[in-house]
Amino acid sequence: MSSRTGKLDGRVVLITGAARGMGEQEARLFAAEGAKVVLADVLDDQGAAVAADIGAESALYVHLDVSEEDGWTAAVAAAKERFGRIDGLVNNAGILHFNALVATPLADFEKVTRVNVNGVFLGIRAVAPEIAAAGGGTIVNTASLAALAGMAYIGAYAASKHAVLGLTRVAALELAAQDIRVNAICPGVVDTPMANPAPEVTPAAVADATAEAWKSVPMKRMGRPEEVAKLALFLSGEDSSYITGQPFVIDGGLQAGMNLG
Ligand code: NAD
Repeated sequence: MSSRTGKLDGRVVLITGAARGMGEQEARLFAAEGAKVVLADVLDDQGAAVAADIGAESALYVHLDVSEEDGWTAAVAAAKERFGRIDGLVNNAGILHFNALVATPLADFEKVTRVNVNGVFLGIRAVAPEIAAAGGGTIVNTASLAALAGMAYIGAYAASKHAVLGLTRVAALELAAQDIRVNAICPGVVDTPMANPAPEVTPAAVADATAEAWKSVPMKRMGRPEEVAKLALFLSGEDSSYITGQPFVIDGGLQAGMNLG
């Protein structure tokens, strides 16, 4: 038996959007660091396959549409039944929608808001009391560089991610007394299915622009989901014990300024 100490030994962390992309890598890394992980998503086959690959002893997959209140109640109950408690949450699930602001139907705007904002709000509301009951822990919300700056053609998304940062700050203030730290991750361009959308769902001009976007990154590459997972690990573990209420940019230098190189 290995005597190695994991950074999340003894922890139970629920991760939304864990069937693929960043959420999948967070689930794999957290489990490797000793946590029990609850993977939540709407992609049931993919999510269950990732959980099975991590191993039944450490991972449980639950179906959860983060925008549905009742779904959270069921997911929390399933997590507690399996692992006894929850002391960590990573609100990672999110969707992206491209369109010019003045051409965006209200229904599309609200669809993004329902998942990206309501999902984070409902997650904090459902899980924070569980973390408090467990004696404290962590919440990590996945925002975006689009929470700190605008980007053309993603108005609904940028608005939703600014809101995630607002929720992060308020939750950090309100939950500090219960030993719950709340921080946000702000990725730039990360190589996941979201950053590589299918041509049929993306207006051609936008597809061309986004395909070029990562080339303006000073480090000259997209981020990898595994790299974002390491930041989520830092914010979920003891190494960040005096940090709460903060956004953490992970973007290969994109936000540093205009890159003429
Ligand atoms: P992804 O599309 O690969 O993964 C997102 C996951 O969330 C998918 O498994 C999807 O099924 C799940 N999901 C979507 N709607 C859901 C819902 N209603 N309920 C539960 N699960 C749902 O994308 P990703 O890049 O891994 O994105 C992860 C997070 O990072 C998102 O919040 C995204 O906005 C954010 N982000 C991504 C990038 C990027 O460049 N990829 C940049 C900044 C921020």
